[in-house]
Amino acid sequence: MEFANQDDVKRLHELIEGAECVVIFTGAGISTESGIPDFRSPGGLWTKYKPIDFGDFMASAEMRRESWRRKFAMDRTMNTAEPNRGHRAVARLVERNKVSAVITQNVDGLHQASGIPDSRVIELHGNATYAKCLGCGLRHELDPIKEAFLADETMPICTDCGSEFMKTATISFGQSMPEDQMARAQRETLACDLFIAIGSSLVVYPAAGFPIMAKQNGSSMVILNREPTDLDSHADLVINGEIGPTLGDAVAVN
Ligand code: NAD
Ligand code: ZN
Repeated sequence: MEFANQDDVKRLHELIEGAECVVIFTGAGISTESGIPDFRSPGGLWTKYKPIDFGDFMASAEMRRESWRRKFAMDRTMNTAEPNRGHRAVARLVERNKVSAVITQNVDGLHQASGIPDSRVIELHGNATYAKCLGCGLRHELDPIKEAFLADETMPICTDCGSEFMKTATISFGQSMPEDQMARAQRETLACDLFIAIGSSLVVYPAAGFPIMAKQNGSSMVILNREPTDLDSHADLVINGEIGPTLGDAVAVN
């Protein structure tokens, strides 16, 4: 585990205290300390499962079945995960009204579980803690779907419109981005004077466009990640270190 250097932590603290309006942008890296694997780290999900593209999901019942298999194989980890020190530090900044919004690529719901109101969390890639009918948009809870699927791989059907296109409420590769969340994220990004990207490899677009948008709009931009990212050269401060300890120290939250 790499600890950030203390000068960097101090600089981050100063940038946060000096800012009027901060936007936090998070990726899978903020949740690894809660036990949820990220995509691109060694041993991450990427090495085990090639993501199922939205086109394949729509075209093939077998792909839909496979996506439910994966979902429920991962479910225990997701269901027992709790917010960690990084999430708590972000929540404190929201509580202090320092942070106006948390834009996240994560689908685990841990920012909300850390006490941040829904109205302050922008989920660019949706949420994996419930399902949605792609036919009529109705929300479905996972428990009954899981019970039937684990019994004999019974596939869910929408109780409202009868559609067989039921999916966790996440955005897959190839699926269009949620317009309302994208618009909110853009508004917040253009209104902040400090943008902090945390735990993202910053290679998934359009999400990774937000740090650049902030920077081009005149905001300061910080990247906190264990390893270098493609956008490091755009940042005013790059901190390579573990998220929980770095953010916890910078914000004085345990
Ligand atoms: P990513 O896996 O591409 O990148 C995560 C980055 O975080 C890596 O660069 C890694 O080095 C860094 N990291 C991991 N743990 C860290 C730690 N403790 N401290 C500091 N750095 C750490 O993730 P991404 O950029 O979010 O893109 C992956 C996509 O997969 C997202 O779109 C997301 O929707 C989805 N995803 C979500 C979850 C989740 O909800 N928790 C988990 C896996 C994947
Ligand atoms: Zn439906």
